[in-house]
Amino acid sequence: MRDLWGLMREYDIVVVGGGPAGCMAAKYAAKAGASTLIIEEHSAIGEPVQCAGLISKRAIEESELKNTGSFVNCELKGAIVHSQSRELRIEAPSPDKRAFAIRRDIFDKELAKAAMDEGAELILNSKVKHVKKGGEREGAKLTILAAATTASAGVNLEENEIKANVVIGADGWRSGIARMAGLTVTKNFLNCVQIEGQYEIHEPVADIFVGKTIAPGFFAWVIPIGETTARIGLCIDKRFSPHPNPLPFLKRILSEHPVIAKKYKFGTQSKFTAGAIPIPMERQKTVKTENGTGILLVGDAAAQVKPVTGGGVYYGMKCGKIAGEAAARACLERNMELLNGYEKRWQEEIGAEMAFGLKIHRLRCVLSDKDFDRMCQALSKYDMIQRITNRGDMDYPSFVFRELIKNPGIIMLMAKNIIKYLYAERKIR
Ligand SMILES: Cc1cc2nc3c(=O)[nH]c(=O)nc-3n(C[C@H](O)[C@H](O)[C@H](O)COP(=O)(O)OP(=O)(O)OC[C@H]3O[C@@H](n4cnc5c(N)ncnc54)[C@H](O)[C@@H]3O)c2cc1C
Repeated sequence: MRDLWGLMREYDIVVVGGGPAGCMAAKYAAKAGASTLIIEEHSAIGEPVQCAGLISKRAIEESELKNTGSFVNCELKGAIVHSQSRELRIEAPSPDKRAFAIRRDIFDKELAKAAMDEGAELILNSKVKHVKKGGEREGAKLTILAAATTASAGVNLEENEIKANVVIGADGWRSGIARMAGLTVTKNFLNCVQIEGQYEIHEPVADIFVGKTIAPGFFAWVIPIGETTARIGLCIDKRFSPHPNPLPFLKRILSEHPVIAKKYKFGTQSKFTAGAIPIPMERQKTVKTENGTGILLVGDAAAQVKPVTGGGVYYGMKCGKIAGEAAARACLERNMELLNGYEKRWQEEIGAEMAFGLKIHRLRCVLSDKDFDRMCQALSKYDMIQRITNRGDMDYPSFVFRELIKNPGIIMLMAKNIIKYLYAERKIR
């Protein structure tokens, strides 16, 4: 790890942001032989945490991390979906389908270490302020202007210049790189809040609470992270909420919700976090090539998120690998056109799932609390729940909803909501 003074000044690839997407992109770029630098604005990788830390076994495998004991809080054997007056229990049929609550601060650090083990370099406390096209004298290079974010790191606070052929914007939902490159990925976001607190836990399952009055346009969650502690949070889609601030909704469920308020030990709140999750758009442009240079977006910066669950860690790592490989090839073969293969490949991998997820998100936004009850009722029929638990998947949830729309009760419900849904289509686009 170096500070801005100890740096080489030219790299094949600069990755902006040391989250899961950026670390994985850097790992795969370095592994393929490209000189790679990660620039992270915070003083430590993975901090501050803005995540509930719920990921699948498949996502853990995707991370390629072996020392899982260092970051897993606990293994969850299923989920209970609570609507206003119903409960739907979904149990993982085999250990392979289980989910895990993880510590993102440690997980992200391990990912960064794995990238460095492959040869990527990392600087902390440095914020990328600008990416400029190279002038005549620089040849086909981008100039990255980065400034130290803290004086205590012992580096100057002036802007430092680094040159690269490819910049990978892995800088999260607020992506400045997307803005600088003129790549508009999405303008819609879920607003989220979460705390950790003491909670009465009877079994290792995630509780999901749906309903317009609980979390309009999304859901609330309680995720056990120990025997008596849980992460409690929610997201809202502000286009379907009476106000854009999710905090009053959280305060309300903590003090009034018939299940949560009973189990949460009031006043034990710690680790408050607020953040946002991008809602993807149907057409996303995540690559820009110009004069022998290229910019790619990955992870939240590219809105590579599951619209149904808001999870972005698995897709971010998956697309990070594709981005790192494509960027390294483009640099080593001096052919920036190869970068376009990145967009094609990630779309092939997750594009259809994201598009279907977006439709489900639109439907959820217009459902009333009574509709959610009907939905839970329809899903809880024995054969339906069997099919869901056997074939359903938190990384590829479209199967569940494809099953759902074959159910006569759900077809009626959708028919009833069709005008509202079409209106949501317009509003959400
Ligand atoms: C409340 C909440 C709960 C969530 N729960 C889950 C969950 O349970 N499971 C799940 O899979 N997903 C969850 N997510 C989503 C998940 O956190 C993100 O999808 C994931 O972190 C995206 O990874 P990333 O690498 O793209 O971006 P990030 O993890 O956001 O990393 C981006 C990095 O870029 C750095 N950066 C930004 N700008 C600059 C700059 N100019 N210069 C240098 N560095 C910069 C930031 O400091 C940051 O470290 C949740 C999100 C929220 C808000």
